[in-house]
Amino acid sequence: MSLKKQIINYFLLNKDTGVDFFFFNEKIKPKEKNNKKIYTQKVQYETISNEIDNKKEQPLSIIKELNLSTSKLVNVDNELYKFDNISDLISLNKHISNCHNCILGTTRTNLVFGEGNTNADIMIIGEAPGAEEDEQGLPFVGRAGKLLTDILKAINLSRADVYIANICKCRPPLNRKPLVDEIFQCEKFLHKQIELIKPQFILALGLTAAEALFKQTYKMGNIRGKVLTYVGIKTLITYHPAALLRNPNWKRSVWEDVKLLRAMYDEYLNSIKK
Ligand code: URA
Repeated sequence: MSLKKQIINYFLLNKDTGVDFFFFNEKIKPKEKNNKKIYTQKVQYETISNEIDNKKEQPLSIIKELNLSTSKLVNVDNELYKFDNISDLISLNKHISNCHNCILGTTRTNLVFGEGNTNADIMIIGEAPGAEEDEQGLPFVGRAGKLLTDILKAINLSRADVYIANICKCRPPLNRKPLVDEIFQCEKFLHKQIELIKPQFILALGLTAAEALFKQTYKMGNIRGKVLTYVGIKTLITYHPAALLRNPNWKRSVWEDVKLLRAMYDEYLNSIKK
């Protein structure tokens, strides 16, 4: 079935279950301020009825951009958020494996649940899968992932020592940032992962992950290097490895941040040895 048809079917399915609006991103227009280009991403919404009934045909403008997300914000009772009987990651993965709570369920190849040591002391949280991850169903396996593996190696950790997951489990089309609504839908799964893994430390990669966790906006320069607390867990925020690929000057900051993580981890290991 073509992607266009899948999206229309998805709209219709949502409409049938009483969900009648979806979000999409307005094109990002840079604004000049103090000689700097500022990019703002404005999220708009439109009703599904409007798209399907009034225009009769395919919601072309939206499909063209693929920058959209249907919403089940109204549906907080969703079956997939009922975790009471789930006590391990394998069951959680199975439980959400067919998730279609947002449009990314339609556009993904594979849901990328997460990977690593299920009893890890350190959990690494990224933004959302990219093309490689979507293809393989595993987190951080593309270029940014290789860099992440090297960063871990530099502090004497392997991927098997940590648990790696993302805020959003499915790839946003064209690697756009996940929309507010998609984060809202998916973060409940991450919360359950954190509850099951019970890490001592979290390393959030990039501002999207950090802002999704803490529900506030940050400037990386101001927030990195600080020890925050997320649901009682010591949390550091650093640059996303994909950002490092674009700007290698940030490598020094990341090195300092992961050294701090390693020092805190060593202190923790010593404290439990006693
Ligand atoms: N970027 C992310 O944030 N997560 C991945 O899994 C891959 C790239």
